[in-house]
Amino acid sequence: MSNIRFESVNAASSRHALPEEKVVTKRATTIFGKNVFTSNKMKDFLPKNTFKELTKAIEIGEPISREIAEFISQAMKTWALQNGVSHYTHWFQPLTGSTAEKHDAFFEPDENGDAIEKFTADALVQQEPDASSFPNGGIRNTFEARGYTAWDPSSPAFIYESAAGKTLCIPTVFVSYTGESLDYKAPLLKAVNAIDKAATDVAQYFDKAVTKINTSLGIEQEYFLVDLSLYNARPDLQLTGRTLFGHMSAKGQQLEDHYFGAIPERVLAFMVDLENEALKLGIPLKTRHNEVAPSQFECAPMFEEINLAIDHNQLLMNVMEQVAIRHNFKVLLHEKPYSGVNGSGKHNNWSLITNTGINLLSPGKTPKTNLMFLTFFVNTIKAVYEYADLLRASIASHSNDHRLGANEAPPAIISIFLGSQLDELLDEIESARVAKKVKSEANLWHGIPKIPELKLDNTDRNRTSPFAFTGNKFEFRAVGSSANSALPMTVLNAIVAAQLIEFKVEVDKQIKKGTKKDLAILNVLRKYIKDSKAIRFEGNGYSDEWAQEAEQRGLSNIKSTPKSLDIYIKDETIALFERLGIYSKRESEARHEILLENFYKKLQIEARVIGEVVNSHIAPACFTYQNELIQNVKGLKDLGLPKEAYSSQLNLVERISKHANTILEQSEEMRQARKKANTIEDMREKAIAYDEVVKPFFDEIRYHVNKLEKIVDDSKWPLPKLRELLFIH
Ligand code: ADP
Ligand code: MG
Repeated sequence: MSNIRFESVNAASSRHALPEEKVVTKRATTIFGKNVFTSNKMKDFLPKNTFKELTKAIEIGEPISREIAEFISQAMKTWALQNGVSHYTHWFQPLTGSTAEKHDAFFEPDENGDAIEKFTADALVQQEPDASSFPNGGIRNTFEARGYTAWDPSSPAFIYESAAGKTLCIPTVFVSYTGESLDYKAPLLKAVNAIDKAATDVAQYFDKAVTKINTSLGIEQEYFLVDLSLYNARPDLQLTGRTLFGHMSAKGQQLEDHYFGAIPERVLAFMVDLENEALKLGIPLKTRHNEVAPSQFECAPMFEEINLAIDHNQLLMNVMEQVAIRHNFKVLLHEKPYSGVNGSGKHNNWSLITNTGINLLSPGKTPKTNLMFLTFFVNTIKAVYEYADLLRASIASHSNDHRLGANEAPPAIISIFLGSQLDELLDEIESARVAKKVKSEANLWHGIPKIPELKLDNTDRNRTSPFAFTGNKFEFRAVGSSANSALPMTVLNAIVAAQLIEFKVEVDKQIKKGTKKDLAILNVLRKYIKDSKAIRFEGNGYSDEWAQEAEQRGLSNIKSTPKSLDIYIKDETIALFERLGIYSKRESEARHEILLENFYKKLQIEARVIGEVVNSHIAPACFTYQNELIQNVKGLKDLGLPKEAYSSQLNLVERISKHANTILEQSEEMRQARKKANTIEDMREKAIAYDEVVKPFFDEIRYHVNKLEKIVDDSKWPLPKLRELLFIH
C-alpha cells in the first residue's frame, strides 16, 4: 500500500539544516530597517519643509494634506524603484485575522504606447480594493461593495521580498465608504488616541511637561514548527491548523527537557534566517528560545509604539511562514496544534510612556513619582476588574477556546498577579490611616509606604496568571498565538482610558471641595484598591481550587467564545466605545456578528475535516487490518487449533469493529447535527449550536480514533503520528 505517511516520514528524517553559507548571521546594525522607508530615508527624498510638516502631522495624529501626499508618493516611488520594486500594495488588516494586499504595478501605459512609472498621491492616500469578500457584519452590503484603504502615516512603508519579487507595502486602515471601520487598525488608532488623552490629563497632576503618552507594546510570539512533508500528510493540520486526532506520543513534555535543551540545528538555521529577514523589515527581533512543548519555540522583539508593534507582529507572522518554507518547515501559529502538550500564546507586554520618556508603570524613586506610578498602576488594576468580561471577550476565538481553561494555560477567569511585594504594598495602603486633615505635604506620605526595589524574581515567576505585572509593565498572557493583538489592545487601551477619565472626575471633585490634590489622589486610589481587590490573585491559576475561589469572589469564568462575546452588545459596552470614539453602535454590533460567524465557520470546517478523514482515511485502514486478522483467524481455525490460539486476535477484531463503528456512526450523527445547526438563522444561536451540539462530537470521535491508532498495524496507519510530528530531526 502506498502510504503518504511513510513517504513523508522518510523525507522528514533525511533533512539537514540549510548549509551555513545560505544562512549567515548578519550584523543587526548593517541590515536593520534596510527595507523600510524610515523617516531618516524620507528626509533625504523630501523638501525640508514637507518633511517637517509630515513629522508634525504624525506626531499630533492629523491627516496629511494633499500637497504633502504628492511629495511623499513621489519620494516613495523613487526609493522603491531604486530598490528594484515593481509593484505596490496597500497592506491592511481585515477582520479575517490575517493581512490583505492588492497589488498594483507602478507601470502605466501612456498615450504613445510606452510605459511610464506612475504612483500618485491618490494611490498613496486612498485606494478601493474589491472589498466585498471581506467580512463586514452587514455594514456594507455587497452591492455597494466599497471599502477604502487609506495610508497610516504613523507606520512606515516597507518592501516585502518574496519569490514573486519585491513589493512596496503601504500600511493602511480599511474603512467603508460611510467611514465605518472594517479592520483592526482603525479602532486601535482611536483607542490609542483615547488613552493618550485620558492618561495625559491625569499625568498633568504630577508633571506639566507631559503632553503626550504613548502606549508601548512588546509581543512575545510562541509557535510550533513541523516538517513540511509531515504537515502535508495531515489534512487536519493543513485545513484547520491543528491535529484533530492523534494519540499522545509516549514521550511528550513530561521530562521538561525541551525548554532548556539545545535548539536543533535545522531550527537554529530557520531562526537565524528569520531574524535577518525581520531585521531588514525593521522588526527589532531580539530573543529566541525553546518553549515548553517539543518543537515549540518563541521569539520576541524589543517593545515599540503599540501600533507599530502590532503591524510588526502581523508582518512577522507572514515572514515566519515564508522563511519556514525555505527550511522545509511549516509554522503552526494555532493556539493548540496538539492536544496533550502546551498550547501557544502571544504575551502582550504593555505600558505607558510619556513624551518626556517616563515609563508610568515603572515604580518611582521619590514619593511624588511613586504616587504617579501608583496612580497608573492602580487604575489599570481597577480597569481590569471593572471590565474583566470585556477583556475576556477580546481574546475569544474558536482556537483560543482550546487553550483557555485547559490545564496548562491561563484560565478563562481574568485575574491579576502583582508579585508579593506590590500585593502587600497595596494591602498596606488600603489599611493605612491617611490623616483626614493633612496640614503639610509631609504628612501625606505616611499614607504611601515606600516602594521597595522590585526583585524581578518576585514579579515574573507566576506563569499561571492571565494578566501579570512584571516589574515595569503589565503582561496580558491570555492572548492567543494566532490572534491579531489589535483587538485585545484596543480593549485594554479603551478600558484604562475610561477608568482614568473616571478617576480624574473623582479626584477633581475632591479637590473642588478643598482636599489637597495629592491627598485627593490617594483617597481615590485607596477606594479603588479596596473595590478591585477580588481581581488580585497570587496563587496557582491552573488549580481547581482557584476556579472555586474565583466563583466565590464573584469573578466570571466564561469558558466558550459565543457566550463571552455577548458583552460586546451590552448597552454599557456600546456606550463605552461610543463615548471614547472607538466604535459606533453599528460597528460594535457588526464586530459581534463577524466574530460569531467566524467562530461557527471554523467549527464547521473542523467538523467536515473530521468526517472526511474518518470516512476515507481511518475507517478503510482499520478494515484492511481487520480483514487480515480475520483471514488469519480463519486459517488458524482451519488448522484445527483450539480457540485459545486465536482468541486475542478475535478480541482485536471485535475491538476494531466497536471503535470503527462508533466513529462512523458518530461522524454521521455529527453531520446531521451540523445540518440542523446550519438552518439556524440567528448568528448567536447558530454559534452556540455549533459549540454545544456539534463540537462535543470532536472529542468523542478523537477518543475512538486514538484507541484505533493504538491497535491497528502501524504500517497501515494513514496519518503521521504525533511522535513523528513532534520531534524534529
Ligand atoms: P519575559 O516575559 O519572557 O521575561 P522580557 O522581560 O524580556 O521577557 O520581555 C518581554 C517583552 O516585553 C519584550 O518584547 C520586551 O521588549 C517587552 N518590554 C519590556 N519593557 C517593556 C515596557 N516598558 N513596555 C512594553 N513592553 C516592554
Ligand atoms: Mg513574558
